[in-house]
Amino acid sequence: MSRPARLTPMLEQYFDLKRQAEDAILFFRLGDFYEMFYEDAEVAAPVLDLVLTARGKGTEAETPMCGVPYHAAPQYVARLIRAGHKVAICDQVDDGESSKGLAKREITRIVTPGTAIDGMILDRESCLLLSVHGESHATGAAWLDVSTGEFFVTRYEGAIPEGFADDVARFLPREAVLSESMNGEVVRVIEKRRIPISRIDRDNFDSVRAPELLAKHFSTQSLKGFGLEAGDPAVVAAGVALGYAQSRHRKDLDHVRHLRLETPWNDMHLDASTIANLEIFESQDGGLGGATLWKVLNETRTAAGGRLLRRWIVKPRAEHDAIFERHDAVDELVRNQSLLNRISRILAGIADLERLTARITMKSASPRECLTLAGSLRTIGELREETARLEGPMLLRLHHELDELEEVATRIEKTISETAPQSLKEGGVISDGVDPELDELHRLARSSKTALLEIEKSERESTGISSLKVRFNNVFGYYIEVSKANLPKVPDSYVRKQTLANAERYITAELKDLEERILGAEEKSAVIEQRIYDHLLTWISTRAGGILATSAVVAEIDAIASLAMVAIARRWVRPQLSEEVVISISEGRHPVVEALTSERFIPNDTKARLEDNGIQIITGPNMGGKSTYLRQVALIVLLNQIGSFVPAADATLGIFDRIFTRVGASDNLSRGESTFMVEMHETANILNNATSRSLIVLDEVGRGTATFDGLSLAWAIVEHLHDTGKGITLFATHYHELTDLEATRDRVVNFNVSVREWKEQIIFLRKVIPGAADKSYGIQVASLAGVPAGVTGRAREILHMLEDRERAVVSDASEGKIFSPARQMELFRRDDSPLSELRELDPDTLSPMEALNLLHEWKRRTKKVKDGND
Ligand code: ATP
Repeated sequence: MSRPARLTPMLEQYFDLKRQAEDAILFFRLGDFYEMFYEDAEVAAPVLDLVLTARGKGTEAETPMCGVPYHAAPQYVARLIRAGHKVAICDQVDDGESSKGLAKREITRIVTPGTAIDGMILDRESCLLLSVHGESHATGAAWLDVSTGEFFVTRYEGAIPEGFADDVARFLPREAVLSESMNGEVVRVIEKRRIPISRIDRDNFDSVRAPELLAKHFSTQSLKGFGLEAGDPAVVAAGVALGYAQSRHRKDLDHVRHLRLETPWNDMHLDASTIANLEIFESQDGGLGGATLWKVLNETRTAAGGRLLRRWIVKPRAEHDAIFERHDAVDELVRNQSLLNRISRILAGIADLERLTARITMKSASPRECLTLAGSLRTIGELREETARLEGPMLLRLHHELDELEEVATRIEKTISETAPQSLKEGGVISDGVDPELDELHRLARSSKTALLEIEKSERESTGISSLKVRFNNVFGYYIEVSKANLPKVPDSYVRKQTLANAERYITAELKDLEERILGAEEKSAVIEQRIYDHLLTWISTRAGGILATSAVVAEIDAIASLAMVAIARRWVRPQLSEEVVISISEGRHPVVEALTSERFIPNDTKARLEDNGIQIITGPNMGGKSTYLRQVALIVLLNQIGSFVPAADATLGIFDRIFTRVGASDNLSRGESTFMVEMHETANILNNATSRSLIVLDEVGRGTATFDGLSLAWAIVEHLHDTGKGITLFATHYHELTDLEATRDRVVNFNVSVREWKEQIIFLRKVIPGAADKSYGIQVASLAGVPAGVTGRAREILHMLEDRERAVVSDASEGKIFSPARQMELFRRDDSPLSELRELDPDTLSPMEALNLLHEWKRRTKKVKDGND
């Protein structure tokens, strides 16, 4: 920032402070305003719709500036944060008496997108700060939500952390704090998601300092209790995240009480592309009118419940008992709908306890927020009563763990007046009966107010001026106002203070005496109220652990209740769990498309068992419903493992370790990868990482390249998945040739989405039926889409011509080669034909000569295939 040569003392102070927070917009407190100067003002004014003015206009020292009233600051700060800025708040910490009229100012906190605690900035979702530290052998990441106190770390093998991108997609941090020297894959992943990055000095990423900072914070000798070792890069990242958040708030953050190691074991791995492809939180290309699984599934009533449900979705379980327990709990509520409705109504009255606790511990909570906490704890008492009727193991456990913390509610209610204002400064926060001195002062204030009225009355009587008024202003306190017409009646004892157009203002000794008592009492009350309030917040902070534990229980009840509400409203059923790798769904539906479509949604069955028919090739025309069907099956498997009921008439499901999806084109083009490259990356990931317990959903693999390459790849991929026994695979494709694999591979079966032809048109039946599709209907779909009749008519002519000749010409654009479909098919079949002949053959019926001839024949044919391929 350009700094003028000669500065006033105040601007000198401004630049000193600005240096401490160079990457933030400085809110500089001046009287009742926060002012912004220079470039800060120029950047902020348009974002905040403020008029940019200037001090010392036209002079050399012209200073661009704009400002906001201090009491409205939170909303302006929120707007700047949303626009991607950080804001440093600089307050006056004394009145300037000690330093020649210039008030002492300090930065009291720096607001950043990933460390916010302010209700104006936060939505109901988690607000995570991410920090990453990489070493040659491993990389660690830390995730901290200052607004709730949640704090965990994740670990990755190697310097290029596999799985990191998936975690970023799962947890969606709001800000990343990285060393100034970090670059490479981690930075690319973060930038791709447009997460703001804050760079800090690499000295902070110190393998000694960071663990020390954590051990000190948690008052533990080491971090072993959290399952972490000092040398772990995740510990370094955690130390940095905590240190950064502390320095933004200039506070210790006592409400951050645990550090958890997020372990992938026992969970289903959900990767970034599956989260995107299944449109769990964001819809692709605005399809489905912006609807997502999250929108269908989220019927939570509390903010913490919403955050927990979100975590359940991105961390589906892979253990039978854990899933079964949730199904059981949902089932119990589904069966007891009136109880569920009552529970849901009660939940709606519970505030965001995690965030209230954080604000109380950080001493940022208002008196009204404390009352909200007390009110919510009372409501939790009601919840405890209702949940006493529950019987299943999970809900019963939750019921027993619910603690309404009676003593916290009572103490708040006793201490804070029901009519307390938003801000402590306004006074009248602490109830009568809490502190005798304060009560006395309140009495004094009240009696003084009566005394004022009495003075007014007696002065009116003694002077005979009926319009005489006692008033107050900030300049000379209490005064008596007499209108011009009555001036002759004013007694000599009145001291004149001010002359107005129509009136004069006076003070009297008696009035000043009373004024001193009133103002003195107010000042003293303010000090006492502040002391009692601080004390209360400190005391509640000692109960923070209990409040957070209860909040976690409420969140769990809320998440289960939400799953039950959705199950009832959408007629979902409880799936049966199977030890086998199996998907058996009767009348399955796509949870999101069904909720949205104006047409009737056509249910479909899915019967897949790894050993019998684990690979299903699905063909059918464009728009037939293949993608919907694939996603539907994947979503049903996912919902099952979240613990939810599923959209079907009946379902028996195995437990899968991972859902792989390769669907359509992704948005990685911004990373400089072609559509085909993205496709192949995702495919490689599947082939390398899928296990026999995975569900693999492939939609149109190989489309991004020349037809022949694409078909060859798709073919080889299916063969590989089959031969290596990698999980259940659903493969939708336009390459009809792939359906031939059914004949040569045991576990490959064909399905197609059915259509009916009517005149030149097609009608989509949306039923998935056994067998391969007979043709593509591409031309019919094109005409449905509005391709002019002239073009589709001509296309039909060409198609007939090609069919007549039975020699469609497919040209490989890249190499200029010409292939005929007949040869194309031959190529893919020939490889297996000697083998299949061998299978059919009974050697005992052959003479030695016949056997030798056959061998020569096969040799000749295999050679031909090889030459053809070359
Ligand atoms: P393409 O090959 O062009 O990608 P597709 O075969 O994958 O097409 P989808 O995108 O799945 O087809 O579905 C096409 C349309 O049909 C969508 O608008 C979808 O909402 C609707 N649809 C799909 N399945 C069903 C169903 N079972 N019941 C009702 N509508 C459906």
